[in-house]
Amino acid sequence: MMNATHDTTLRSWVESANEPETDFPIQNLPYGVFTVAAEEKATARVGVAIGNSILDVTAAVKSGLLPPSRAATACERPTLNRLMELGKGYQSALRSALSDLLARGSDAGRTAAAVRDSILVPTDRAVLHLPVAIGDYTDFYASIHHATHVGRMFRPDSPLLPNYKYVPIGYHGRASSIVESGVPVKRPRGQTRAADATVPTFGPSRMLDYESELGVFVGRGNHLGAPIRISDTEDHLFGFCLVNDWSARDIQTWEYQPLGPFLAKNFATTISSWVVTAEAAEPYRIPAAARPPGDPPPLDYLLSEENEKSGGLDAILEVHLSSARMRDERIPATLLSRAPFSLMYWTLAQMVTHHASNGCNLRTGDLMASGTVSGPSPDAMGCLLELTERGAKPITLPTGETRKFLEDGDEVVMRGYLRAESRPRIGFGECRGVILPADSA
Ligand code: MN
Repeated sequence: MMNATHDTTLRSWVESANEPETDFPIQNLPYGVFTVAAEEKATARVGVAIGNSILDVTAAVKSGLLPPSRAATACERPTLNRLMELGKGYQSALRSALSDLLARGSDAGRTAAAVRDSILVPTDRAVLHLPVAIGDYTDFYASIHHATHVGRMFRPDSPLLPNYKYVPIGYHGRASSIVESGVPVKRPRGQTRAADATVPTFGPSRMLDYESELGVFVGRGNHLGAPIRISDTEDHLFGFCLVNDWSARDIQTWEYQPLGPFLAKNFATTISSWVVTAEAAEPYRIPAAARPPGDPPPLDYLLSEENEKSGGLDAILEVHLSSARMRDERIPATLLSRAPFSLMYWTLAQMVTHHASNGCNLRTGDLMASGTVSGPSPDAMGCLLELTERGAKPITLPTGETRKFLEDGDEVVMRGYLRAESRPRIGFGECRGVILPADSA
């Protein structure tokens, strides 16, 4: 449901939030966890991105600018979990108060602007931390375009397995190795078997890849044994982030049968630092992607009128790459892909409902990722496996360097935003990671 915080005419007294290209206009108000660069990490607390600054929620409460509500005091914590587990009413009231406080022309906004230095931190003077204590992480495979492109490399005649149009396919990932944007990622070592070899060897992955995905955080969980009906998913979804599901394709090829991804995926997963709330995303909801004629409808437990009508999100996800040499020579990162989230075969609500459909309990702070987001066109492929056809068609960078997969020193930057006609875009910020060399043997 939309409210005054979605008003497209709102502007902020934080001028940078009114720039058309900002990820963080006043209509967004995503949450993250920060410290001021000089502070101890012990003081990490929740902030709200606004233009090129962060609103320190705790400082705003202490200065009497925000009422000390349950949601506002939850922001004294070093993770979002306490805020995430509250009911939607508390969260919505905080968003409303934050919008009022940051608005140009409101009484609260005038008072806040007068003491701006005590409540705002320039983002370039802050350190952003992992925003959520993530207990469990699940990764889906919900882009039919990605599944078809990848499936075709292995099974040219029947790229999609018979379950794809019935089951939102997923696997259990690993939460311990999820890192925030900016943390470098070390090339993993593992078992691989060369195409012409009969036995595997152990060493650095030579087919390191990224996967561009959208993540959703669970707010309120469900009890063990109590599934979540698709009509109730809204009560359980707190917000969204960008996810880079780093993947070692050579390790994956050798290990994935019969039980699925394991060490090829769990060495690192990077998420963006800001969580865009489901409430902020409300105006950017669109119908679930229409299934092509002839496709089966979802089974009843995955079907609702509401989900058909507004289960989709009009998000665009971009991937940018720079090599170490490009950065040395001050060449900007190259845009590798721009993919629409609107074409996903399964909605986030269907993924959540399916996950809990057997009674599996989801808990506050759990992360679910969509799977690689790809579109049908060559400029919309969300991983190198697809983009280079498993290395068969290397891409060329502006320096003349070529890439089949990631090299040491390569930096992947994902960006994304939600869009709707006659509305400001609201962005997710960055999901950034540079590849460090593997440990020597
Ligand atoms: Mn993935």
